[in-house]
Amino acid sequence: MKPYLADPVETKKVIAKYDFAFRKQFGQNFLIDAAVPEAIVRAAGLTKNDTVLEIGPGIGTMTQYLSEAAGKVIAVEIDKELIPILQDTLAGFDNVQVLQGDIMKTDLAALIAENGGGPIKVVANLPYYITTPILMKLLAGREAISLMAVMVQEEVAKRIVSGPGSKDYGALSVGVQYYADPEIVCRAAPSAFMPQPKVASSVLRLVKRSEPPVRPRNEEYMFAVVKAAFLQRRKTLPNALSGYAPLGISRDQAAAAMERLGLDARLRGETLTMEQFAALSDEIHCHPERSEGSS
Ligand code: SAM
Repeated sequence: MKPYLADPVETKKVIAKYDFAFRKQFGQNFLIDAAVPEAIVRAAGLTKNDTVLEIGPGIGTMTQYLSEAAGKVIAVEIDKELIPILQDTLAGFDNVQVLQGDIMKTDLAALIAENGGGPIKVVANLPYYITTPILMKLLAGREAISLMAVMVQEEVAKRIVSGPGSKDYGALSVGVQYYADPEIVCRAAPSAFMPQPKVASSVLRLVKRSEPPVRPRNEEYMFAVVKAAFLQRRKTLPNALSGYAPLGISRDQAAAAMERLGLDARLRGETLTMEQFAALSDEIHCHPERSEGSS
């Protein structure tokens, strides 16, 4: 069995052996503190019955822990330079399959079907440049994923778990909480990575919901309302919503819709619960006064 890589000395040895150059554009910050992969494995509640998808294995640091805890690990890595390194560092970890590719272009449904049909768990120390698109692809897709345990920037984690009234509450909070129940599990200082990022990170546990917490008549329209509300978060809702053309609504129509729902027209989006966003979306979208031809 290869040595554990969650250690600065072992990581440096691998980097030197392969003369590996970190690629900033791929968000490469490798873990060097064993406490972090241990916390992620615990957060994912892994057992030998689990199939795990790891996004961005890097040199295989967390993959080693996943291999020991789970039944099967599929690791998708974009950087071709890392594939021969992974073959070396993961030699002897027989339940790991490494695939070279971009997770954003990976056919997850096919991958899951080839591996028993799921539901699978997703684990990742996410590349920060693409955190939100990856999370939304995994959450909003219909693939059989039960849970995700992911490392993200601390500031992003706070936004994801926030509720109404908090300065961190925004479109990302509503978007993620519509699909999953999020929880911050632990924090990781910049010193847990090589090279060190500028900011701290947090491990998030996201349990996917079987049903969304609200049922807007038009999901897409509700997300457009949420987007508009937070695009100009200092504005009152009627001003913010009327300023976003795709909604096809005037200031007065937005104010009237709020009034019909018993909401004060001076409110800002940051005070609305998801239930209130869904109700407001239904009220505007289904109202005959809204402009023809709007989505
Ligand atoms: N899991 C390793 C660790 O914790 O040490 C590496 C984490 S590093 C923050 C992010 C990894 O994701 C890098 O290995 C990077 O090359 C890879 N990556 C970046 N963009 C990717 C993408 N679109 N698809 C798959 N992997 C990606």
